[in-house]
Amino acid sequence: MRIRSCGITDVGLKRGHNEDNYLINEELNLFVVADGMGGHAGGEYASAIAVNTVEEIVTSMELNGEFSNIEDPVELTRHKLTHAIRLAGRRIFEKAREQPEYHGMGTTAVVLLIDGSNAFIAHVGDSRLYLLRERRIEQITEDHSLIAEKIRHGLITREEAKNHRMRNVITRSLGYQEDVEVDLQVHAVRRGDVFLLCSDGLSGHVADEELEDHLARLGPQAAARRLIGLACERGGEDNITVVIAAVEESA
Ligand code: CA
Repeated sequence: MRIRSCGITDVGLKRGHNEDNYLINEELNLFVVADGMGGHAGGEYASAIAVNTVEEIVTSMELNGEFSNIEDPVELTRHKLTHAIRLAGRRIFEKAREQPEYHGMGTTAVVLLIDGSNAFIAHVGDSRLYLLRERRIEQITEDHSLIAEKIRHGLITREEAKNHRMRNVITRSLGYQEDVEVDLQVHAVRRGDVFLLCSDGLSGHVADEELEDHLARLGPQAAARRLIGLACERGGEDNITVVIAAVEESA
């Protein structure tokens, strides 16, 4: 699989600094977006720990020894990725406990690892992964947010959710508890698939149909720039991060 990718993060128009972080590791086909929050410099530190820990653990071969009872390579990668995100959460939790200036920090994380013909998608929080396939977009991750839960339980409609005063309340994140439950999915990759990882600074301003339109028409770099531009045109209330990974038609 040949993958073309592009990542951009932007402070937006209203915030003093950028607490989002992202990672593109082309060798591993590993892509991460983390949206930090809390504390003075805590948010950007928490999201940096998340991104760096995931890369460290996915790269580390020694860990395979720790999971030596797992023979199936898909299972092994699932375990490794889940372990990486939980470890990131633990590291953030401990830093926040030890150092007062980091008290209350946390982060979301959404991770894509393309390994052979499989896409491993893991997340905690409301940063999202979308998949564009056959020109149709689908949100693959389910937000860990109060609003998403209300929608799931039929308590409010998607339309009502858009301007809901609690739309920023997340129900799961890294750093607030010692351990966290990670959602992980494995999808078979097809040529032509385009993956989009983003923080809520994008998804709060740009509708799914617009994401679909731009991702279908533009290459990763142009699409990333266009989406960041759109979020800024519409107020840029929050930091905005976009990572796009396109699986080339000709491998
Ligand atoms: Ca955010």
